[in-house]
Amino acid sequence: MFESLSDRLGGVFDRLTRQGALTEDDVTAAMREVRQALLDADVSLPVVRSFVRAVTAKATGAAVTKSISPGQQVVKIVHDELIAMLRGEDAPETLRIDTPPAPILMVGLQGSGKTTTTAKLARRLKERDRKRVLLASLDTNRPAAMEQLAILGRQIGVDTLPIVPGENALAIARRAKQQASLGGYDVYMLDTAGRLHIDQALMDEVQQVRDVANPRETLLVVDGLTGQDAVNVATEFDAKVGVTGVVLTRMDGDGRGGAALSMRAVTGKPIRFVGLGEKMDALETFDAERIAGRILG
Ligand code: GDP
Repeated sequence: MFESLSDRLGGVFDRLTRQGALTEDDVTAAMREVRQALLDADVSLPVVRSFVRAVTAKATGAAVTKSISPGQQVVKIVHDELIAMLRGEDAPETLRIDTPPAPILMVGLQGSGKTTTTAKLARRLKERDRKRVLLASLDTNRPAAMEQLAILGRQIGVDTLPIVPGENALAIARRAKQQASLGGYDVYMLDTAGRLHIDQALMDEVQQVRDVANPRETLLVVDGLTGQDAVNVATEFDAKVGVTGVVLTRMDGDGRGGAALSMRAVTGKPIRFVGLGEKMDALETFDAERIAGRILG
């Protein structure tokens, strides 16, 4: 995902570390290149600006430029600032699913990987956290999507709410909630309908479903390859339905990585998981240090 950004930054920092002594001008010139590399990775401009400003302020002090290995210190500052940008403050460690049956609302645009991610997360809750999970698809416009969730559920050994043809999304949400209580499930996950674009009908439906389920976790699934668009989608969903966390999919692809870098700073919402492939086990907890490490090689 971060190959190109990583190569570019690697080039800049190789030069800095080889150089020995550093002047403030050297640091400023390097930061100009860092700035361009981040912009080319589709990181949003305000985020790039504040990042470069923070790094420059710390890296041009005498403590760095007069130190024995100034280049390495600049790299360390960049590393720490990257982590701060990726993680934000008070990043939650775990999902708030302690009171059974805990609802998780899954939202996002069609094609973002929402249904796949719902199943991946259900599998993870079952295998790692020993939770009994019930899945329900609310995508009444696309019977194939409902069937897809049922198939994935069978594959991972997680129950799905039986499909009742003709039932609307709200009725399905109510039935899922009731079934989750009666059936003694720890968690129930509602895979809401996705559309190609954000529209009022989609948001109205998600809001109504949210009011039925009253979820403490509303996870937005967005395609990590779409850069700043992913961040815009997150901003809109959050304004309309309130998002508690983001899942970035297709982080196994060769996108530029801007979405991962801007998401927290622009939306204030933490990235909770990243999707790394089509398989059911290709879901990882988001780890800012690991990502920063990957970017800086
Ligand atoms: P939905 O319309 O948002 O529910 O999207 P789907 O869950 O049906 O996913 C659309 C396609 O993206 C499917 O072919 C998935 O296998 C694929 N997909 C989902 N997540 C990932 C991921 O993290 N990496 C890759 N490479 N493909 C993914």
